[in-house]
Amino acid sequence: MNEKIKTLFDCIKNMCKSDLDRIINFVLGIVSVNQQLTDRPGCPHCASSRVIKYGHKNGKQRFFCKNCTHTFMHITNTLMANSHYSQVIWADFIRDTLYGEPLDNSAEKFGFSHQTAFNMRHKVLMALQNLLKQKSVLLSGIVEFDETFVLDCYKGAPVPECAERNARKHGAKAAKRGISNEYVAICTGIQRNGGIVAETVNRAKPLAEELNAVFRGHIAEDTLILTDGLRSYNVLETLTNCKVINVNHEECKEMFNLNTVNSLHSYIKETYNHYRGVATKYINRYNALFSIAFRCAKDLKNTLFAALCNSGQTCYWHSVKDVRSYQLVTL
Ligand SMILES: [Zn+2]
Repeated sequence: MNEKIKTLFDCIKNMCKSDLDRIINFVLGIVSVNQQLTDRPGCPHCASSRVIKYGHKNGKQRFFCKNCTHTFMHITNTLMANSHYSQVIWADFIRDTLYGEPLDNSAEKFGFSHQTAFNMRHKVLMALQNLLKQKSVLLSGIVEFDETFVLDCYKGAPVPECAERNARKHGAKAAKRGISNEYVAICTGIQRNGGIVAETVNRAKPLAEELNAVFRGHIAEDTLILTDGLRSYNVLETLTNCKVINVNHEECKEMFNLNTVNSLHSYIKETYNHYRGVATKYINRYNALFSIAFRCAKDLKNTLFAALCNSGQTCYWHSVKDVRSYQLVTL
């Protein structure tokens, strides 16, 4: 494994147990076991507290909501709903995902089939993606914007005709030189010591309307926007009324740089290679993981992290059908 990426995953591994447990519990969408024993949870369907105990199902406490007349259990709407596996196994599996453990290693460790491990991995990724949508990131202060490119990938499926190329061997490079249609762009905005927005919308250099779609609603008033001078970014000035600065401009060179966004890009590329690429249609799920893991590794105590541990009434559960269809990227 690449040295740098190893250090990064080691960093997550060295997090204190309570921090790691808080994230894992958040992803699982559960309250602590102690709380479960004493509390009557709010209804996950209508948030009402008019709830009574209503017998047991599969050995677990069931509840009845007097308001909407639905029944539910502690795990309804959490990541574990409809799963045979226990909370302990899920917690361990999420830990593996955050550590960047290869899928087949996890499958072997837990005795899952590759397909089961794949479905579980993607349920975790979709929950992280939902989390970032739920706790919408608002970039402020000094924010660096840039895009990075990774090779497209049809892992697990034949390369479609429209791609006009043969399958690549592991580790092979692009057939064409420079940025071609073999690459997909990840548009990123990163606040120094703050939030990250990373999303893939297309292959080529992003157009103004694509940047608009990615960053609309994510930039606070009076933000200083730093870019490498790509014209499309000027749309952010119109969108937000904030000042856009080209760091390559002669008089700005001394004062500003894109170091933070560049280090995020090297992290994304290293992680992407560590996974030997991820299927392009799933790339936004991994972008969510990259955004969260990058900040975890950089600064365990930062606010994004704290936000991770507040769950609330949101549903983070996805079905196996969602694994194949939810918010796929089609380019
Ligand atoms: Zn209800």
